[in-house]
Amino acid sequence: MNSAHFRCFSGCPAAFSVDRAISQCPTCGGLLEVVHDTAALKKRSADEWTRLFDERLGSPTADCRSGVWSAREWVMPHVRDEMIVSTDEGRSSLYRARRLGREVGIDDLRIKQCGTSHTGSFKDLGMTVLVSVVRQAMSDGAISPRPLACASTGDTSAALAAYGAAAGLPVVVLLPRGLISTAQLVQPLANGATVFALDADFDGCMKVIQELADREAIYLANSKNPLRIEGQKTVAIEMTQQLGWEPPDWVIIPSGNLGNAAAIYAGFKMMLDLGVILKMPRLCIAQAANANPMYRAFVAGDAEVAPIAAIKSLASAIQIGRPVSATRAMVALREMNGVVEEATEQELADACARADRTGLYTCPHTGVALACAFKLRARGVIHESDRVVVVSTAHGLKFTEFKLGYHESNLGKVESPLANRPIAVAANADAIAEKIARIGA
Ligand SMILES: *Cc1c(COP(=O)(O)O)cnc(C)c1O
Ligand SMILES: [Zn+2]
Repeated sequence: MNSAHFRCFSGCPAAFSVDRAISQCPTCGGLLEVVHDTAALKKRSADEWTRLFDERLGSPTADCRSGVWSAREWVMPHVRDEMIVSTDEGRSSLYRARRLGREVGIDDLRIKQCGTSHTGSFKDLGMTVLVSVVRQAMSDGAISPRPLACASTGDTSAALAAYGAAAGLPVVVLLPRGLISTAQLVQPLANGATVFALDADFDGCMKVIQELADREAIYLANSKNPLRIEGQKTVAIEMTQQLGWEPPDWVIIPSGNLGNAAAIYAGFKMMLDLGVILKMPRLCIAQAANANPMYRAFVAGDAEVAPIAAIKSLASAIQIGRPVSATRAMVALREMNGVVEEATEQELADACARADRTGLYTCPHTGVALACAFKLRARGVIHESDRVVVVSTAHGLKFTEFKLGYHESNLGKVESPLANRPIAVAANADAIAEKIARIGA
């Protein structure tokens, strides 16, 4: 059977077991990555792999209907069945947004609905892998008992709290006080996590959690930990499978810490290495203009991402100025002939409202990605005939304050040209009929 291990992303020679509680390279302190045994995986042909994955999709009574674990040989082969902590994550819709696509001149515009998931964001995909690996490693005595912990802009903590609770493992989360939505705050509380609200932004919370990890007081569950990326990369695999094992032309992803961008690349790279696809899609990393260190590096042609102080953004989950996975994302950008685009607060809010008018219900981060897609199309970088996948990272229902604020024209400097408000009227059919008659007039 094939196996996977940790290796230094910067090329230090040693390899480490994924069952060790390390969050960075012991030699250089840099990022780790998970490396798979490609030679062993190549013993199956591309056709055999795609047939196997298609078969697993087909069985409604399977014990585990997870989109992540149905690609388990490519994700984390050593996890035993009974150790898997799953909520049947993944298998999200690749919704064809026909009306929106027509409006903006993209024939085949798809929304990968990662927000329709157990805790309402794509973070479930990485967390099922991390929690399963840790549960097995603790049960085997490879990792001594300690809480799983993360710093979070909201969705990571929701996912960690849910999977930790499902496994019966203690969870600690550090949140930036006042910077996440009510729904996101309630989630870890409801799942019984110990929640600390810090007077800091996300980058400040990240610094503290790293210190706690260095003291071995906690096991680090942030996406600095490459186990998360292994689960998240199944988004690339799933969308390709949903397109009949053809990659799209473009993937557009809202990015903050840049782990998910790295994961998308890892998924496509694996398919390319195994001959399942023959070309890479192009990548667009979409950032909020208020938190755009990757965009700045791209525009300046810099190979390194210089940290900035992120400004408050409606896209709170990507309000990150010091992205942990910047070097990973740089490789993704290069290998996928990628671009970085940004969206202002006004642009992201309007993109959400516009998309919602066509039947979607978008979170602000998805709004960032959509706004960037519209801009790239308007500039002719994306062509009308391109097949474009916008990754929707969270469910709009987690962001009611944002939605309501827009429609009540109550988002500060952001205007609400597409606001829609309830109309107060007497409980009287004549009065209502008169108003209905004026709709569209
Ligand atoms: C975490 C998150 C992102 C950003 O992912 P990164 O890996 O940090 O770039 C985008 N959108 C939502 C809703 C998220 O929760
Ligand atoms: Zn190293």
